Amino acid sequence: MAIPPEINGPRGAIRLDGIGKAFGETRALSGVSLHAPAGSFLVLLGPSGCGKSTLLRVIAGLEAPTEGRLFLDGRDVTGLPPAARGISMVFQSYALFPHLSVAENIVFGLRARAVPRAEREARLDRTATMLGLEKLLHRRPSQLSGGQQQRVALARAVVAEAPICLMDEPLSNLDAKLRAEMRREIRALQQRLGITMVYVTHDQAEAMSMADQVVLLREGRIEQDATPANLYANPASVFAASFIGTPPMSLLRLVPGGDGAIIAGAPDLRVAPGSAAGALLGVRPEEVTLADEGGLPATLLDSEFLGAETVMTCAIGDAGEKLAARVQGNHALPAGTRLRLKLPPSLHLFEANTGLRRAAA
Ligand code: ATP
Repeated sequence: MAIPPEINGPRGAIRLDGIGKAFGETRALSGVSLHAPAGSFLVLLGPSGCGKSTLLRVIAGLEAPTEGRLFLDGRDVTGLPPAARGISMVFQSYALFPHLSVAENIVFGLRARAVPRAEREARLDRTATMLGLEKLLHRRPSQLSGGQQQRVALARAVVAEAPICLMDEPLSNLDAKLRAEMRREIRALQQRLGITMVYVTHDQAEAMSMADQVVLLREGRIEQDATPANLYANPASVFAASFIGTPPMSLLRLVPGGDGAIIAGAPDLRVAPGSAAGALLGVRPEEVTLADEGGLPATLLDSEFLGAETVMTCAIGDAGEKLAARVQGNHALPAGTRLRLKLPPSLHLFEANTGLRRAAA
């Protein structure tokens, strides 16, 4: 398929400079600065209420920021209306018109903008082929499955051929299998079109698998802005560490031992240098292994068999510290089973009072 030259160029860079947004007393965003290069896939990730949708709506021009500026391709668009920004959008609710056919739904925006009929049809053709909707163009939305409706909503954004596409939790109405499929499709589509994507989700797996860059938000502020690999390997804080991973990183209190830092309440087995005492130790469950002898004594609290792996939640010592291990195979053992666990050599240390990552010990 020929990609129109105007969306194949380097257009679509987004820069936010100190964006803030207040709704009366409620502060939804504070000091948000970020840069998404043209053609990149940026995910806004965070728990419910952290400001993801508000930030997306500020980029779209549907909300005016109370502070800060927004630049698209270096141009200050802070005061421009949505239609002047070269942006398409896909919402969580597909918002398809029930009385219009799939084809009419897809070209609705083009009609509204008085795009000539021949061009409308050419774009519809290209888009329908790209999204595998050719055979469904005459149906009404009610005659489509959820996945097909989602594809029509995507088509409606793609047909606009805008250099930037914004998506707000577009897959949350689909079942898990379809979600995984659509995730791959959206990523492939974004790369094929060379557009800049800003994608809102609270699902870390979605963020990690799709993004070039993840912006993790917490209470309206950026907690960490990093590649998925870096976010996983070097979480900047306890919040970031416990948001990423299935299950997320375990966090254990360290106290001084005879020969270095040990886990609070556990036998005197050194797990980190003495300088780490007082900090929190972060351990990725997939890096913990079962040991025959030696290793850290643990008591199994709960095990969850997932098919290829088992997630084992264990108590370490007698001061309430818990460690999760994600191990290959079926280890559905009864609660109370005594185990020995081996911790990974790489350490994640966080300050107990601020939750911030400590420089490598
Ligand atoms: P979710 O994942 O639940 O959709 P979110 O991260 O997208 O959450 P936002 O919808 O951006 O969060 O909301 C951020 C904060 O701003 C919340 O405290 C919310 O209640 C508040 N908020 C959002 N829109 C408005 C509004 N129009 N009026 C008042 N408060 C609002």
